[in-house]
Amino acid sequence: MKTQHLILLLEDETEIRRFVRSALEAEGYRVHESPDCARGLIDAASRRPDLVLLDLGLPDADGMEFLRRFRGWSQAPVIVLSARSDETAKVAALDLGADDYLSKPFGVAELLARVRAALRRRVTGEQGSTLSFGDVVIDMGRQSVHRAGSAVHLTPMEYRLLELLARNAGALLTHRQLLREVWGPNALGNEHYLRVYMGRLRHKLEQQPARPRHLLTESGAGYRLVV
Ligand code: CA
Repeated sequence: MKTQHLILLLEDETEIRRFVRSALEAEGYRVHESPDCARGLIDAASRRPDLVLLDLGLPDADGMEFLRRFRGWSQAPVIVLSARSDETAKVAALDLGADDYLSKPFGVAELLARVRAALRRRVTGEQGSTLSFGDVVIDMGRQSVHRAGSAVHLTPMEYRLLELLARNAGALLTHRQLLREVWGPNALGNEHYLRVYMGRLRHKLEQQPARPRHLLTESGAGYRLVV
């Protein structure tokens, strides 16, 4: 029998805990609740969750402190829960290794979709080297891209950007992460590179480049490839 995924819910507000817990349990996930950072670190170490839902505003410490320490030994996906006003904090959390974020208030459907995507991504990351979306197939072993059966020519930089998004499909990657990984640390701050290259990729790979369905912009934060 398939074991149920264990989700650690690190959140101090009981209302939100109750809401999130019942939504996740209804889908068959196991949930463990921790009300603060100190407890969360202990619970994470002893229970080894498959995924963490992390509130950034915890009573005893910043959620970032949990993230920093947790990433020291675990690569399990972390989805940050934060107030909509915390734009800078959200991006900083992603830069520190969070996989995604949900802005409060969020709905059940959105929560479940993000959780499923984060858990699925972990499996894909471990397994195959091929990713498909729309009529596009990326073969990361051969470093080739086909669209509707025909080879698509990408420049090396276009390919690197696409592969990075593909390897993290579903995840939001920040401007900083993308610039550092594709162009190197000296490119930090040159967000227009990303606009230009994302435009080219959309032109080559999207049905309607002006209304992309897969290569998405997350305003003020970064980009995401949705399959
Ligand atoms: Ca809180």
